[in-house]
Formats: sequence, structure tokens, C-alpha cells
Amino acid sequence: MSALSQLHEEIALCTQCELAKYRTKAVPGEGAENAEIMFIGEAPGWHEDQQGRPFVGPAGLYLEQLLASIGLRREQVYITNIVKSRPPGNRDPLPTEILVCRPWLERQIELIRPKMIVTLGRYAMAMFFPGKSISKIHGTAQKRDNTIYYAMYHPAAALHQQSLRHAIGEDMLRIPSILSEAKSTTEINQQPQQLSMF
Ligand code: URA
Repeated sequence: MSALSQLHEEIALCTQCELAKYRTKAVPGEGAENAEIMFIGEAPGWHEDQQGRPFVGPAGLYLEQLLASIGLRREQVYITNIVKSRPPGNRDPLPTEILVCRPWLERQIELIRPKMIVTLGRYAMAMFFPGKSISKIHGTAQKRDNTIYYAMYHPAAALHQQSLRHAIGEDMLRIPSILSEAKSTTEINQQPQQLSMF
């Protein structure tokens, strides 16, 4: 069994916060172990809790359409959340829940070593871009320690707000060029450097 599958099993058994009492299934994450892009959402919803898989409800279908717009299938990326169990009634995750769940996400990032981390929504954004506002930074990339961080609106929000739909579609379409520019500058210069679009 791979280290990532073992980690998924550990996450599935986690009881470190109250959410474990209410969940049907924990939702560790899924996708390619060598994914170049990792998408990080907020927390499982009803559908995800039932199936133990991330982004399988309406927001997930929309995420799949957005991925298809850049020629990707969900199996080619890695998808997870900052909180691995569903908050009851789909309430927002609490700061303590986010904090105790964070080491799981850190271990996922260590194992997968994605070139690009895409945050979906305010909660995931806050973890990687503290103090920033999503309406200001969505669609902009930052490179730190050889990883590109990129914030997008949450697909569920964009599903319900027509004004965000255009933005999320455009932001997704920028991902391939950001990734390929990052790869080519790293390869040519051996050293990572500031990319023109950051
Ligand atoms: N919303 C999320 O943030 N994550 C999921 O897995 C599903 C919906």
C-alpha cells in the first residue's frame, strides 16, 4: 500500500475533533499520487459525507466541468479539503477544527509535492494567504518555496452567484499557462525565480 493510501486510512479513523461524532464517512481526499495540481476546498458536504469522496455533489460536478475546460479529468489532479469531516448542517468549519485537521493536509502536501496548490473558497485561501481577501487575490499566483499558490472562488459559491461564475471560469483557464511558465523558468535557470505573472 502506498504512503498516501496509508495516510487516507489514518484520516478515515481520525477522532481528534467533535466532527467525528457526526460524520457518516471521513473524506480524506483523492486523485493522482503524482498530481502536479492540488485543489483544496473547505469541508465535505452531504454527498461527500455519504460517499467518503471529495467534491462529488453539485459543486463537484461543476469543478469537473471547470477541469474539463483545461483538458483535465479529476483523476489527473488531487482534490481534498482543509477539514476532512462534514460539519453538521453544512455549517462553516470552526477555527479549532481547521487547526486540528491541518497536519493531515500538511502530510498530503508533503507526499504529493504538487507544483501548484489551488485554494477553493475563503477558508482554504485563508490558510495559504492569511489576511487577504478573495475578491482581491482570486486568479493571482504566488510562488513560495518552489510551489505556486493560486486562489479561486469556491465552485459552490460560483454555482449560485452568476457574477462569480465568469471569474471562476477565467481563473481556471489561466492555470495551464501559469503552470507551464513556472516549469519552463525552473528548467531553464535551474533556480526558481519570480514569474512575470506573479
Ligand atoms: N465543498 C467543499 O468545500 N468540499 C467538498 O468536498 C464538497 C463541497
